Amino acid sequence: MTCTDFLSKLTDYFDGQIGAELMVEVKHHIAECHHCHVVLDTTKQTIEVYRDNEIYEFSPELQNRIHTAIMTKCRAIAK
Ligand SMILES: [Zn+2]
Repeated sequence: MTCTDFLSKLTDYFDGQIGAELMVEVKHHIAECHHCHVVLDTTKQTIEVYRDNEIYEFSPELQNRIHTAIMTKCRAIAK
């Protein structure tokens, strides 16, 4: 699994729509990739904050922000 793959599964992960096999791959990736681990953590915290306020919604805007953040970091490591 690459960071891009991880990213494309992130919303499914939080929606609980992810299969057991894929979950293993996701966990394997975040165990090896510090940046995705941080992103996952941050996203989780963000969602919990939204949930507390009962306005949780995985909006396209939020997805875009997460996507941009990860890709920026991944490009930074690739250098
Ligand atoms: Zn990654």
